[in-house]
Amino acid sequence: MPYRIAPDIYVYQSSMWQTNSAVIINQTANLVIDPCYFPAEIRVIADFISRKRSFNRYMIFTHSDFDHIVGYQHFKNYKLVAHEEFAFSDRDSQLIQLNEIDQSYYVLRTPPFVFPEPDIVFQGTYRIPINGDELLLVHAPGHTGDCIFVISLAHGIMFAGDYLSNLEFPFVNFSTAAYKKTLDLAGKLVRDHNITCVVPGHGDIADRREEINDRIESDREYLISLTERAQDLFVQGLQAREITEVLSGLTYRNRPIEGVMLKMHIENIKLVVSELQSF
Ligand SMILES: [Zn+2]
Repeated sequence: MPYRIAPDIYVYQSSMWQTNSAVIINQTANLVIDPCYFPAEIRVIADFISRKRSFNRYMIFTHSDFDHIVGYQHFKNYKLVAHEEFAFSDRDSQLIQLNEIDQSYYVLRTPPFVFPEPDIVFQGTYRIPINGDELLLVHAPGHTGDCIFVISLAHGIMFAGDYLSNLEFPFVNFSTAAYKKTLDLAGKLVRDHNITCVVPGHGDIADRREEINDRIESDREYLISLTERAQDLFVQGLQAREITEVLSGLTYRNRPIEGVMLKMHIENIKLVVSELQSF
């Protein structure tokens, strides 16, 4: 069952990685953000939204990672909206990951998934006016190059894509510098648009300003200590392997990073080292 977070706004959470899809539905518009993940879950969302047929239908992708786009084919006649960089994502790597997971869980997708081609792309910001609200889409690179924030201006709600999760520290696939800037941008957007609710791509909704700021802060602290300590060690002449060894002991929210999360953390360290090497 979805959470209703505003009169016209619903959030569905998948049992896959607690991935959140959102639906905004009123007399004039049907909007879907990141439809996911398992076919049965996506059908529930598609059924729900098909009960109100509005003329303006938009599907917004917060970024091109497969878990956020996988359900779009269940929705017919929607304008697909994404950032311009969406066209440059590594589609093969996304398809390989999706197929691997589908094969191991015996997930059947009909029709088979094909990568979406957005109808509307934009660079910096894009606005979608809907009855009684306006959605503001803002480029937010860092996790990937094509990430965006989606803000409901009337309700002070921000859909953050793969940022500000209570389950994940920053997964940096694009650039640490861009990621840090995007966290600053998130803070500014929260203040400027009086945002009191953040829906992350994965995990729990943050519905208090204190919780939102806390998530921004802990992600910033992690990234700053990761990049500053990597730079120190790099300047001291340590090799990539040694830097990885030292920094794998880094903490997030004062806790050690362990288990599957350690793998993601080590990916971040590798990226930081390659950024330092290419500087
Ligand atoms: Zn994701």
